[in-house]
Amino acid sequence: MNFVRLGLLKRSLNMECRNLHLLKKLAYINGEWVNANSNSVFPVINPADDKVIAEIPDMDATDAKIAVDAATNAFKTWKDTSAKERSSILRKWFDVCQKNSDHLADIITAEAGKPLGESKGEVAYGNSFLEWFADTARHINGEVIPSPWPNKQIIVTRQPLGVVSIITPWNFPFAMITRKVGALMAAGCTCVIKPAEDTPLTALAAVQLAEEAGVPKGVINVITSSRKNAPAVGKVLCEDPNVGCISFTGSTHVGKILYGMAAKGIKRVALELGGNAPFIVFSSADISHAVEQAMLAKFRNNGQACVGANRFLIHEEMFDKFVDCFKYKISQKCILGPGHKEGVTCGPLINMEQIKKVSGLVNDAVKKGAKVMIGGQVAKDIGEKFYESTVLVDVKPDMEIYGEEIFGPVAVCLKFKTENEALEIANSTRSGLAAYVFTSDLGQAFRMSRQLEFGMVAINDGVLSAAEPPFGGIKESGIGREGSKHGAEEYTDLKYTLFSALDK
Ligand code: ADP
Repeated sequence: MNFVRLGLLKRSLNMECRNLHLLKKLAYINGEWVNANSNSVFPVINPADDKVIAEIPDMDATDAKIAVDAATNAFKTWKDTSAKERSSILRKWFDVCQKNSDHLADIITAEAGKPLGESKGEVAYGNSFLEWFADTARHINGEVIPSPWPNKQIIVTRQPLGVVSIITPWNFPFAMITRKVGALMAAGCTCVIKPAEDTPLTALAAVQLAEEAGVPKGVINVITSSRKNAPAVGKVLCEDPNVGCISFTGSTHVGKILYGMAAKGIKRVALELGGNAPFIVFSSADISHAVEQAMLAKFRNNGQACVGANRFLIHEEMFDKFVDCFKYKISQKCILGPGHKEGVTCGPLINMEQIKKVSGLVNDAVKKGAKVMIGGQVAKDIGEKFYESTVLVDVKPDMEIYGEEIFGPVAVCLKFKTENEALEIANSTRSGLAAYVFTSDLGQAFRMSRQLEFGMVAINDGVLSAAEPPFGGIKESGIGREGSKHGAEEYTDLKYTLFSALDK
């Protein structure tokens, strides 16, 4: 790097720091803010303008091992805290995060690129998990089962399974952490978090607030690493004998690698992987409501969400009308720009790989005959990571975009004639996370709920995530559930104790 560039980098670094109150530049192990053992660092970049926000520790396997040991040690005492105590600490963490919502949102916008309004929405959503698990901590119950023997009693308890390794993605850098950490802390587990290399600053801010809330040292540890070191760190987090569970949200590809490593030690896994959500609109649907919801299901976080609508299946009778309304809404509501700018509703994509992926899928489809109704290219006048909000029609099965998870602001609209045809297309994927159905026919709503091969089905809604219901997929979209009481139970082992000789 030449000196001019280094000077510019330092200047931009200082500019950003002044505004980000919760900016931490060190990793967090055993209650200490630490550098990497090797002293290496890597830059965290604002995707809107490529400025370096901070340089933070680029940790490797050695640091990961130290963090797992710290979590293992903390587990010895944390597991024996009362549910009431864990609940009260989680509640304090929730309160501190609530108080710092705007500061957390600033950091999310700086490193993930999302519009400030959406970042605030993510903080509220992420906080809702801390609040929920503060309550849930006191309701992780066991069972007393009538035994087949008169002199014996069967007691089943739920015990915390130990240290949980957490690997998170960049698209919801706060909520993906609180959803996992809230649940496992409620259950009595400790953890090591490896946040995505694109968005580690939100994770560090969240644990800074956890420290303020009185979370004991070693209960939460954060290892920061570049993508280059992720496999080495991941290997320790999956294979260390003291780790009891790997909780991952990210791509199906990486999920399979981690699942393979976890299998070697018969570790528990909680995997929340890619989706390929159908958004089905039947002829009885209220079309303007369906279009409103389509905007949310497609363009929240600019399409970079695993539950984002990926395939719009529209009944042939209303196809043209739906596409026209959708196009109009997009032209009015999708305002591209940097996330901190007033009025912006769609930020940049996270990095150049995402831009290449989305452009590649659209270009392939257009080359094979798909028609662009709106958008269809990189918005170069705004920046190289900004992609226009796009609608494609005439998409055919031989185009890559037909079966792939797009993870960007591109809506593929397909026509269908019958309910069976819609079901067949919707289910013709190895993914099974979320599905959306629009109909005013009650029987049809029930039939779709039952027959769609997805872990979550929304009838007449484009947003279904909350702390209360179980979030998760089937098939290659994952294993396990997050949120709800099931989310905390994921981090427990059932223990059966037989009390015998009661007549002696
Ligand atoms: P995305 O495509 O959204 O970046 P990934 O699945 O590639 O999703 O990344 C999600 C998380 O998994 C990130 O924290 C990333 O650093 C991590 N990761 C990627 N590859 C590995 C690996 N081989 N081992 C452990 N973690 C990994």
